[in-house]
Amino acid sequence: MKYSSKELKIDGYKAKILVQKYSTPLYCYSFKKIKANIDNFKKNFKELNPLICFSVKSNSNKILLKEIGKMGLGADVVSIGELVRALKSGIRSNKIVFSGVGKTANEIHYAIKKKILLINTESKSEILEIEKIAKYQKKTVDIGIRLNPNIDAETLNQISTGKKENKFGVLEKSFINLVNYCKKSKYLNLKCLSVHIGSQILNIKPYQKMLSVLEKIIKKTKYHFEYIDLGGGMGIDYKNNNKELDLIKYSSLIKNFQIKNNSKIIFEPGRSIIGNSGFLISKIVYIKEGHKKDFIILDAAMNDLMRPALYKATHRIIPVHKKNNKTKKIYEFVGPICESTDKFLTIKNFQKLYEKDLIAICDVGAYGMSLSSNYNLRPKAMEILIKNSEIKIISKRQTLNDLI
Ligand SMILES: *Cc1c(COP(=O)(O)O)cnc(C)c1O
Repeated sequence: MKYSSKELKIDGYKAKILVQKYSTPLYCYSFKKIKANIDNFKKNFKELNPLICFSVKSNSNKILLKEIGKMGLGADVVSIGELVRALKSGIRSNKIVFSGVGKTANEIHYAIKKKILLINTESKSEILEIEKIAKYQKKTVDIGIRLNPNIDAETLNQISTGKKENKFGVLEKSFINLVNYCKKSKYLNLKCLSVHIGSQILNIKPYQKMLSVLEKIIKKTKYHFEYIDLGGGMGIDYKNNNKELDLIKYSSLIKNFQIKNNSKIIFEPGRSIIGNSGFLISKIVYIKEGHKKDFIILDAAMNDLMRPALYKATHRIIPVHKKNNKTKKIYEFVGPICESTDKFLTIKNFQKLYEKDLIAICDVGAYGMSLSSNYNLRPKAMEILIKNSEIKIISKRQTLNDLI
């Protein structure tokens, strides 16, 4: 993304021209950025030779998954829907891990049949269910157990997953008991310890603590885990202030850990692969004067991009056509949905805006479209991908007919 003669350009294409062709609201992804993120991830963690499983819930677009698969990544899925889609996108089953606290018998049957790399279990009940199904299918199933390390990931509360009050994983005592249970089972082959402490993590300390908890607990189990799945959660620079997670440091911490434990490392990144590759371009429908601020009413809403409403997440908003006339007003960018939480951001000192102007909401590649809905019976936006100077429609705009 850059401006040339004050016009926002995404990989060489003027956003204004994209809108003329495809209308708004429009999700636009940069292939170049996705590839750079993947290359960067691989480079930073090269020493570990990890298996990188893309977290499909962050963006489940079929064509994007295909592209990501072609670059050698596997998939981390959390439902049968995501599992089927990952397989259909050409990702091989021996690169797929299945996470989540509530996998149903149907989902487990399917995962076993497809011989995926690991089912990462999250409770005793689930382990018993898998054992029952494995016995029925006369198979031995490779599983992991997700540990809840009771660590504060120092991120938004709503996307923290590794504290003892969170529903994810099992606590230390239970973990050790379950390892002992699996050792004796004919149908379960315990191969992995998995952990995922949260998302949008920018500080290395929680990861550092996590690794030291893992080390301590692994010693107590006296068990050799073929895989250690460290999850995802690597944060990105939403605020554009160069505060980024130090991946090289993280890699060297993991390397020390790996030398002691001699396990293969798995990662499950979502946001750090796809987050900053996407823009949501939207048109201003109306501008309304309010008390001490003006409401910029967009044609994009919380159904298109839920993160601000759901997590109070911040996404930068930038103009598609830059001007130098700063307003002294406060602008609140909102959508048309009948909810007070349907607002994206409040900004001071923005350039003066007019009705029908275009803006772009930044870094919406992860948990943008995948969290979208038809709330208020609004059709879903179109998604396009810019790849090697070509524009590809990767999901069509829903029509009213699709909905009604
Ligand atoms: C959501 C999730 C991820 C991906 O998290 P990011 O912050 O997008 O990297 C990885 N593993 C599990 C188990 C998850 O639930």
